[in-house]
Amino acid sequence: MIQSTEGQTILVDAGPDLRAQLLSHGIGRLDAVLLTHAHADHVMGLDELRIMNRIMGKALPIYGTARTLADVTGRFEYAFRPPTPGFFRPALEAVAVEPGQVVRMAGLDVRLFSQDHKVMETLGLRIDGFGYSTDVVEMPEAGFEALAGVRDWVVGCFQRAPHPVHAHVEKAIDWARRVGAARTVLTHMGPDLDWAWMRQSLPEGLEPGYDGMVLESPQDGA
Ligand SMILES: [Zn+2]
Ligand SMILES: [Zn+2]
Repeated sequence: MIQSTEGQTILVDAGPDLRAQLLSHGIGRLDAVLLTHAHADHVMGLDELRIMNRIMGKALPIYGTARTLADVTGRFEYAFRPPTPGFFRPALEAVAVEPGQVVRMAGLDVRLFSQDHKVMETLGLRIDGFGYSTDVVEMPEAGFEALAGVRDWVVGCFQRAPHPVHAHVEKAIDWARRVGAARTVLTHMGPDLDWAWMRQSLPEGLEPGYDGMVLESPQDGA
């Protein structure tokens, strides 16, 4: 989740454990949802957004590429119908976006770029000095250009050995050197990426993420 200095929030992807995550991190506000792609581990929590509709008292805009939106409007057709009073089902409003656009959502300018996940395209994003790239095995040049100068970069890294659709450790390290962020945080880690091993083995500037991790931008006084 990304929070603006004014307190508006963007949820990036809605995984199957979304309900538990919203509860354990005390999330009481949501202004927009951005989907990187429609793989099940990124969208199967969409039904849990109903409580956020109730809290916000309105439908939530959900941003994604045309392909992603076609997929989720098929799987969650009931959530894209006009809202009912009382929100007895989730109420989502599909907003199609494309790589290369800078999209204003939740009071933030979000720059979107295309990433190669082999089986489909995924969206990477940049907001000020923060970049986020998950589910990517090859980073197109336009992605590196969009990420140039970020301070913090969160990047998906699945395992130690090369993988057909995800970056592995060595590749993530190479990319991190090229992007040059002060902090590169690995996410979307698979079972062979032992956290203690990563803390010891990753080079300076790279670290494994964890549930509940908070990265703050300098203007927040962190
Ligand atoms: Zn995926
Ligand atoms: Zn994934």
